[in-house]
Amino acid sequence: MTAPIPIPHSLITRGVTTRFAPAPTGYLHLGHVLNAIYVWETARASGRDARVLLRIEDHDRARSRPAFEAALLEDLAWLGFRAAGELTRQSERSFLYERALEGLRARGLTYACECSRAHIGSGAYPGTCRDKSLPQAAGFGIRVRLDSTTERFEDLRLGPQEQRPSDQSGDVLVRDRDGNWTYQFAVVVDDWLQGVNLVIRGEDLLDSTGRQIQLARLLGRAQPPAFLHHELLMKTATQKLSKSDGDTGVRDLRAKGWRPEAVIEHARALAAQSPDYQSPNRLSPNRK
Ligand SMILES: [Zn+2]
Repeated sequence: MTAPIPIPHSLITRGVTTRFAPAPTGYLHLGHVLNAIYVWETARASGRDARVLLRIEDHDRARSRPAFEAALLEDLAWLGFRAAGELTRQSERSFLYERALEGLRARGLTYACECSRAHIGSGAYPGTCRDKSLPQAAGFGIRVRLDSTTERFEDLRLGPQEQRPSDQSGDVLVRDRDGNWTYQFAVVVDDWLQGVNLVIRGEDLLDSTGRQIQLARLLGRAQPPAFLHHELLMKTATQKLSKSDGDTGVRDLRAKGWRPEAVIEHARALAAQSPDYQSPNRLSPNRK
C-alpha cells in the first residue's frame, strides 16, 4: 500500500488552481479520463477555493481541429467534469507569448536557430547556433539560453526530483522555424499568467519539468507551480496503453452504450494495473 498523496498546506491556504489542458488533435481517450480524475479529485481534496481551469492547447496550428475541440468538450461534459470560468485557447494567446518572448529577448536570453529537427536528432540541442548572431526573424527558430543549474523539485506523488535541463534538452526552442509556439513555451507562459500553482499530468512529461521550472524563472515567475505526475494507463504491466489498442476512445465507448460512471471506473481499473499505481481516491489534504 502506498501513502495518500499529500497536498501541501501552503498550497491549500493560497487556494489551488490547476488545469485540464487537452490538445484538440484527436478525441478524448481513457488517458485523458485518468488525468481528469486526478485533476478534479485533487481540486476537490484541496478545499472550496480550489479551481480547475480548462485550456485548449491548440498551439500546433497544423494538427489542431475545431471539430476535435468540440468533441473533447462534449465528452468532458458528458463525463461530468466541469471547469471554472471561460475556457482559454492557446491559438488566441499569441500576443501574450510574444510579450513574454520580448521580455527574454530584451535581456539577451534568446537567439535565432536555423537547425532542422533532422539536423538536431533526438538528443539535447548542442547549442550550434548560440554564437552565430542570426537574425531573430521569420524563417528562424528562437531558443532560450539555459544555464547549467540543477533544478530540484518535489513531485507530490514521486517525491524529490533532480534534473539538469542544459544536459537533458539543451537550450529550449520557444518558437519553431514555421512560427509555431512550442508546447514547452506556451504551457509555461500560460501556467504563469493564469496563476496555475499545481500542474497535474502524466509521468511521460516528468522529464520536461526541470526545464519548465527554469523557463518560468527566466520569465520572471517568482515561485514555480507544484507538480504531480501520475501513472500512465497500461495495457500490461510493461506496456503503455495507446490509441491503437482500440476501445480507448470515450466516443467509441459511448457509442457502445457505456454510462459515464462506467467509463470513469474503467479508467481507474486500468490505472490500477500500473506497477506504481496510486489510487486517486486516496488523495488527501496534508493536515500537518
Ligand atoms: Zn541551431
